[in-house]
Amino acid sequence: MIEKDCMFCRIIRGEQPADFVHRGERIVAFKDIRPSAPVHILLVPRKHIRSVNELTPEDAPLAAEMILLAHALAEKTGIASSGYKLLFNVERGGGQFVFHLHLHLFGGWRPQ
Ligand code: 5GP
Ligand code: ZN
Repeated sequence: MIEKDCMFCRIIRGEQPADFVHRGERIVAFKDIRPSAPVHILLVPRKHIRSVNELTPEDAPLAAEMILLAHALAEKTGIASSGYKLLFNVERGGGQFVFHLHLHLFGGWRPQ
């Protein structure tokens, strides 16, 4: 895929609107357009990486930063202590539809 046709690259470049909750140097985060949970945020690296399958050893700090940012955003949205889920869908068979790496942050259900 050419990056100019990538929906998440378009959002990162500001060509497509999104409800941002974080704009960092390497990672942005915005609300999922079709939320599957009361809180559903997508954490997206500015660098176009197709999927987890394309991560290289040089991307290890970026991958770690995504997980740490997920925790920070869970704190910010008030779901950290109640609990949340983090998910990477990987390629078609893994349920990936947007081929720009992203980490789903889900939470905010009623406490058990
Ligand atoms: P995937 O199945 O690829 O892991 O997840 C892609 C997610 O991106 C889906 O949950 C879908 O609702 C969300 N999504 C797709 N297009 C857009 C968009 O243009 N804006 C936003 N905010 N979310 C999107
Ligand atoms: Zn992209």
